[in-house]
Amino acid sequence: KPVIEVKNVSKIFKSKTSNVEALKDINLEIQKGEIFGIIGMSGAGKSTLVRCLNYLEKPSEGSVLIEGEDLGKLTEKELRKKRTEISMIFQHFNLLMQKKVIDNIAFPLIIQGVKKREARKRAEQLLETVGLSDKANAYPVQLSGGQKQRVAIARALAVNPKILLCDEATSALDPQTTESILELLQEINYKYGITIVIITHEMAVVRKICTHVAIVEKGRIIEQGTMVDIFNHP
Ligand code: ADP
Ligand code: ADP
Repeated sequence: KPVIEVKNVSKIFKSKTSNVEALKDINLEIQKGEIFGIIGMSGAGKSTLVRCLNYLEKPSEGSVLIEGEDLGKLTEKELRKKRTEISMIFQHFNLLMQKKVIDNIAFPLIIQGVKKREARKRAEQLLETVGLSDKANAYPVQLSGGQKQRVAIARALAVNPKILLCDEATSALDPQTTESILELLQEINYKYGITIVIITHEMAVVRKICTHVAIVEKGRIIEQGTMVDIFNHP
């Protein structure tokens, strides 16, 4: 069965003055181990869609299933637990600026109740995975954009997620740094079998690492399939 299944999802943002229909009847199936790209222009609905995948945003209609489990049927407590299987990284990294790199990475484990010593040990291993062992005691402000995203990736991996959601994760980075971050994501996908969903407005990102892609336009998926299906390009 698919790791992620989106069935007839619509999302309407209502306000006093207007309604925005951000998603219209979205259907998606993402299988384990895929690197699935969601591409579209600004305002197409990509962020809303990815936020529906972990129920940070609740669909107005339809359902989202993670490993066959309907998120709409979970209690708040069950949902919080389920969310630990789904990590996310962002365009602007969202690191805790007053904490050292190592403590940023250990933080999600500490929240889960892991002892500080043990959490730091795991954080050290993750720093090695992302190639930043020498920055354990640095503060985020001392890092380049690419290094900050590596820390964010290590933090995302700390909880052993099954799914990694990347929302414009390379959009603030220069082309060389983008390339190296995408290579890291590819390595993580290969090594740990984590399913990766990549939201982007950049075709180059999709071409570089995605196995599958969906094209979003005005809240609808207008095409989806393997890279070969869509672009005749492996
Ligand atoms: P993208 O990520 O592709 O740029 P978004 O999902 O951010 O697109 O936005 C899709 C549409 O939904 C846009 O018209 C945006 O203004 C609207 N939208 C997104 N979030 C909200 C919100 N919280 N309230 C109202 N409208 C929103
Ligand atoms: P991004 O495109 O990087 O996701 P945005 O600037 O589109 O960032 O959105 C930032 C935040 O504002 C998001 O939480 C989004 O849901 C919300 N948002 C986006 N568009 C609107 C809107 N038209 N009205 C209210 N909130 C919005």
